[in-house]
Amino acid sequence: MITKNALLYMSKQEGLRDILTQFRFFQKVTSRFVAGETIEEAANAVKRLNSLAIKASFDHLGEAIRNEEEANSEVYEYHKIIDKISSDGLKSGVSIKPTQLGLDISPDLFLNNSRRIIEKAAYDGRFVRIDMEDSRHTTATIELFKKLRADFQNVGIVIQAYLYRSRDDIIDLLKNRASIRLCKGAYDEPASVAFPKKLDTDNNYIALTQLLLDSGYYHGIATHDEKMINATIDYAEKRNIPKAAYEFQMLYGVRRDLQEKLAREGFNMRVYVPYGKHWYPYFMRRLAERPANIWFVLKNAFKG
Ligand SMILES: Cc1cc2nc3c(=O)[nH]c(=O)nc-3n(C[C@H](O)[C@H](O)[C@H](O)COP(=O)(O)OP(=O)(O)OC[C@H]3O[C@@H](n4cnc5c(N)ncnc54)[C@H](O)[C@@H]3O)c2cc1C
Repeated sequence: MITKNALLYMSKQEGLRDILTQFRFFQKVTSRFVAGETIEEAANAVKRLNSLAIKASFDHLGEAIRNEEEANSEVYEYHKIIDKISSDGLKSGVSIKPTQLGLDISPDLFLNNSRRIIEKAAYDGRFVRIDMEDSRHTTATIELFKKLRADFQNVGIVIQAYLYRSRDDIIDLLKNRASIRLCKGAYDEPASVAFPKKLDTDNNYIALTQLLLDSGYYHGIATHDEKMINATIDYAEKRNIPKAAYEFQMLYGVRRDLQEKLAREGFNMRVYVPYGKHWYPYFMRRLAERPANIWFVLKNAFKG
C-alpha cells in the first residue's frame, strides 16, 4: 500500500511530474480536485459554489517558479482573476503562494509582486490570502506578511497546526490584527519542527482555533475533519460567538456533502478553488492526505 510519506516525496519529484503530466489520463483524474486549466473553467466552478451559498478563493496552481518572468506572469494571471471576479460578480477572493511569486529568488521580488496583486484586489474590494508552504519558508512568509499587513487591510495569512511554533506565531500575528486561516499542514516536515503524531496536531488545532475565536478578528477554520468542525461550533456557542464572526474553509472536491450542509445551516463556508496546468504537486498532496483517494480517482477515471 502506498503511504502518505511516499506520496509527499513523489509530489516533489520533478522528473516524475514531467512524465505523468504528459498523459491526458492523468489530466482527467485530477478533475476531482482541480477545477480546470483556465480561468473560465474555474469561474464556472465558483458560480456553482456561489449558487449553493458557498464563497470561494481562486488559486492559480503554481509554486517554486524559476525566474522573474514566470513570477511576473503569475501577477498578470491574478490580475485577470480579479477582473473576472468583478465582471462576473463572483463571491470570491484569491489565494497566492510565496514561492509562486518569487520568494525563493528574493524576498523583495515576492513583496513587490504580492503588493501588485493586493493593491488591485483592494481597489476591487477583494481579499488576498497568502498560503503557507513548507517550514523553510515560514519565518520569511510571516515577516513579509507583516509588512504587507501594515499597508493593506485585505490580506491574510495561513498558519499550520502541525508546527510547534504556531501558537507563538498566532499570538504575534494577532498583534498585527491579522486574519488567519488555520489548517493542519500539508507538507512532509521533520519531527524537529512538527508534531509527528496526528493526535497532537489535532489537539493543537483545537487549542489554536479557540485562540482565534477568542481574538475577536475574523478567521478561517480550514479543515474537513468533523471533529475539528464540531469542536469549533461547540466552543463558539459556549462563548456566544456568532456564526458571522468566523468561516469554515474546505478544498474543492473534498467533503462536498459537508460543505453544503454547513452552508445550509447558515455557517460562512468558503471553498479553495485551484485551477491551471501546474496541478501535479497540489494533486499529490491531496492524495497524500487520504491515500484511499488513489482508488477513488482511478475508479472514476475509468468510469467515463
Ligand atoms: C481551504 C484550505 C486551505 C489550505 N491551505 C493550506 C496551506 O496554505 N498550507 C498547508 O500546508 N495546507 C493547507 N491546506 C491543507 C491542510 O493543511 C490539510 O492538509 C488538509 O486540509 C487535510 O487536513 P484536514 O484538516 O482536512 O484533516 P485530516 O485529518 O487530514 O482529514 C480529516 C478528514 O477529512 C477528509 N479529508 C481530508 N483530506 C482529504 C482529501 N484530500 N480527500 C478526501 N477527503 C479528505 C477525510 O474524511 C478525513 O478523514 C488547506 C486546506 C484547506 C481546507
